[in-house]
Amino acid sequence: MRKALLLVDLQNDFYENGNLAVSEASKINPAVNKLLSNNSYNIVIASQDWHPAGHRSFASTHNMEAFTPYEKEKGIGPVLWPDHCIQGTYGADFHPDIDSNKFDYILRKGTENDVDSYSAFQDNDGTDLGLNGLLKGLNIKEIDICGLAFDVCVKYTALDAVNNNFKTNIFLPAVKAVDKKNFNQHADDLKENGVNLKREV
Ligand SMILES: [Zn+2]
Repeated sequence: MRKALLLVDLQNDFYENGNLAVSEASKINPAVNKLLSNNSYNIVIASQDWHPAGHRSFASTHNMEAFTPYEKEKGIGPVLWPDHCIQGTYGADFHPDIDSNKFDYILRKGTENDVDSYSAFQDNDGTDLGLNGLLKGLNIKEIDICGLAFDVCVKYTALDAVNNNFKTNIFLPAVKAVDKKNFNQHADDLKENGVNLKREV
């Protein structure tokens, strides 16, 4: 079966010292690099959160605190984030320990000022980011997913992968969540929606 590896947002701002830090994020790097060293993938895709400064998803743009609930604008929320992954900054770069030479395609998301993108398949307002067409064009049937953060961008990407009729796998040693205390709830949601959770890479 033709297969893709999809690495979600492995960027400095989502690692321990970043602006939207996911705790213990760097612990996933060996598992991610093990997946990257597997030459059986037909394509390796990395998504990259890539916001303009002053993005509407940033709490600072609204003079509010990070993680404040916010549902006033279509495509933004349900919470506001710290400034992160601003185009061209170190925080937006891929983590230096990830072997980015193995990436075949980089998909940038969140590039429009007034809409966020959690899924690599579509903006939060439903605008298609082209990934489904790319994968269908390559006759990909199955997608292995890993990256940051499990409960946000990995989750929304995996749900869209299922909705687009791909066999969809998430590798648990190669993900970390922002909201650790609800990890099991997110895992159950994914399983109920047809995502396979793999315990080993
Ligand atoms: Zn973002």
